[in-house]
Amino acid sequence: MYRIGIDLGGTNLKIGLIDPDYRIVDQSVCETHVQAGADGVIEKIVLQVRDIISKNNLSPKEILGVGLGCPGVINSKTGTVLYSNNFNWHDLPIRSILSQKLNLPLVVTNDAKCAALGELMAGSAIGCKNIVLLTLGTGVGSGIVVNGKLLDGSGCGGVAGHNTIVQNGRQCTCGRKGCLEAYASATALISETKKQLHMHPESLIADLCGRDPEKIDGRIAFEAAKRGDSYGQQIVDDYIEALANGVSNLVNLFRPEKILLSGGICNEGDTLLTPLNKKVKEYCFANIYLCPPPVEIARLKNTAGIIGAASLINL
Ligand SMILES: [Zn+2]
Repeated sequence: MYRIGIDLGGTNLKIGLIDPDYRIVDQSVCETHVQAGADGVIEKIVLQVRDIISKNNLSPKEILGVGLGCPGVINSKTGTVLYSNNFNWHDLPIRSILSQKLNLPLVVTNDAKCAALGELMAGSAIGCKNIVLLTLGTGVGSGIVVNGKLLDGSGCGGVAGHNTIVQNGRQCTCGRKGCLEAYASATALISETKKQLHMHPESLIADLCGRDPEKIDGRIAFEAAKRGDSYGQQIVDDYIEALANGVSNLVNLFRPEKILLSGGICNEGDTLLTPLNKKVKEYCFANIYLCPPPVEIARLKNTAGIIGAASLINL
């Protein structure tokens, strides 16, 4: 029996046909076309799922079910997208709609949770029972696995990005101040880099982006720091300090075997990981008695979402 895993992103819709050992048998990627609205996106998912089943000469009877990872606040118990910023969806009962159209069992949860499950089944965390994965992108998503099971509370628990790390700190998109997301997302890194460009036009940041703030991405501060620019270094230091605080809080709560990071910032590799691990070691509770878990880069990258989504069918 096979499973279908769907990674529904704001830009791309990825669909995977997954075998019982969580290997990808076939996969497809197409544009999501968010502007087509919920009906249009759902129709596209239905077509793509039917297509991958028939292309592989399978009948729906050979499909155990469909798992769907979606960005936003998802109540997996009711199968509802409560709110998704990327799609501007509110209270969308996506499980019942899709399951009816496909005539297959369907489970839906948040996309970062799927990524954590994907790493657990086939990536950096094979054999682990307790992990935390943070996605450092537009926001900070999280997937927490405790004793081999995804932590979901009564429906949308395990949200690490909106824990306060700085009281009365930066404004977060959720309405509160000082959330981890307001410091450790790629969006936060880019916004701090823009701020430094504005305040210090003499910095190397200006050369690296051609003095155009719109050309600033998550790499520029790291690149400026590598070339010895003190403003770039300050941004990187502050970023890593905030992330270390967020990670240490999660270590204290869950004591996972590993903390995994994903997102474009992870391309910085050891420039990010070495100081981060050093700080986490310093900040974790009982650090002189218990060695904190390593913070690593998640291995699967683009395929974690579809593999993890497919694994939801077991839950
Ligand atoms: Zn927040």
